[in-house]
Amino acid sequence: MSQTYRLGVLDGDGIGPEIVPVAVRVATGALERAGAGVEWLPLPVGLAAIESHGAALPASTLRALETLDGWVLGPHDNMSYPPEHRTVLNPSGFLRKHFDLYANIRPARAFPGTRATATGIDLVVVRENTEGFYADRNMHAGTGEFMPSPDVAMSVSVFTRPAIECIARTAFELAMTRRRHVTIVHKANVLTLTTGLFRDVCREAAAAYPAALVDDFHIDALAAHLVRRPGDFDVVVAENMFGDILSDLAGELAGSLGLAPSINASDAVAMAQAVHGAAPDIAGKGVANPTAMVLSTAMLLDWLGRKHADESLVIAAKTMERAVEGVLALGIGTADLGGTLGTAAFGEALVGWMRDER
Ligand code: ATP
Repeated sequence: MSQTYRLGVLDGDGIGPEIVPVAVRVATGALERAGAGVEWLPLPVGLAAIESHGAALPASTLRALETLDGWVLGPHDNMSYPPEHRTVLNPSGFLRKHFDLYANIRPARAFPGTRATATGIDLVVVRENTEGFYADRNMHAGTGEFMPSPDVAMSVSVFTRPAIECIARTAFELAMTRRRHVTIVHKANVLTLTTGLFRDVCREAAAAYPAALVDDFHIDALAAHLVRRPGDFDVVVAENMFGDILSDLAGELAGSLGLAPSINASDAVAMAQAVHGAAPDIAGKGVANPTAMVLSTAMLLDWLGRKHADESLVIAAKTMERAVEGVLALGIGTADLGGTLGTAAFGEALVGWMRDER
C-alpha cells in the first residue's frame, strides 16, 4: 500500500453534484484495485456554500484546501448566485490565482465508439492560467476591466516573461512524453507586443528541447487548421483566453464537451476540473455525461503519482482511462453521445468494467 493522499471534493453548481460523486466513485474503485490510498474530503463551494456559509468560496474551504494534496472541483454557475456574489472572482478563477495553478492542461482525444467530428484528434492544449486576456484575474488587486462611463468599457491584458517561461516549459516537457511537437498560439500581427512576447518567449524556451518540432500560428488560422487537419497537432500552448476557446473547439471536435478533461497545476498542487461548465440546461435531470469529470480525476491521480513517484496512483489513473475507453467502445453512453444511460448508470458501467477487467 502506498502512502495515503488527501484530496478535496468540491461538487460545485449545476450538474456538479451529479458528476463529481460519480468521478469519486470510479476513482475509489480504481484506487482500491491499484492498492493506493486516498482520503476524500467533501468541502462546500458555489451556491450551496453561499447558502450554508455566506460565500461561494468559504474561508474554511480555502484553509482546508491549503492542507491537501489536490482536489476535484465541479463546475460553477455564477449566474445562479445572488447579485452581490456575482461581482467577485468566481471560485475556479480565485483558486487558480490563489494557488498559482499556472498550467491548465486540456487533452482532446477522440474515443472509438463516439461521434467525434475529428476521429484522428489526439492533442493537448496547454493554457496559461494566471494572466493574459482574462482581466478578471490578471491584476494583483482589482480587475483589469474599467468602465469610465456607462458607454465606455476597457480591459487590460497582462503578459509576463516568467509566466510565459513556466507555461512554455510545461508544454515542452509534456511534448517530450508525446509526439514532440509544440504549436505556439498568438496574434502577433495585431497584438504585437503582448502576444508577440508570448510567441518569442515560447520560441526561446524551445532551445532547451532541440528534439522538439516547433511551429506557431495566429489564433484565427489555428482554429481553421484544427477543424481541417486536427490529427496534425500534438501540444498547443496558448495564453489564457485563446487556450480556453481552442480547448472548447478541440473538445467538441473530439466528440462532446462532456468528454473533455483538464487539470490545473502549480509545481506543488493540482485541481481536477472538467472543461465544460455547469450546464444549467440539463442540471438536476440525471442525464449529464460524467466522463470529463472522471477523466479529470484520473489526470489528477496521474499528476500526483508522477510527483510522488507513486506507481499505484499512475496505475489507478490508467485503469480509469481504460474503463472509459472500454465502455464507450461498446457504444454505451449518455444522451450527449447518442446513448441512453443516465449519469449514475454510466458511472456504474465504468465501475463494472473495472471489476470485470482481468
Ligand atoms: P462555461 O462558461 O462555464 O464554460 P457554458 O454555458 O459556456 O459554461 P456549458 O455549461 O459547458 O457552457 O454548456 C454548454 C453546452 O454543453 C450545454 O448545452 C450543456 O448542456 C452541454 N454540456 C456541457 N457539459 C455537459 C456534460 N457533462 N454532459 C452533457 N452535456 C453537457
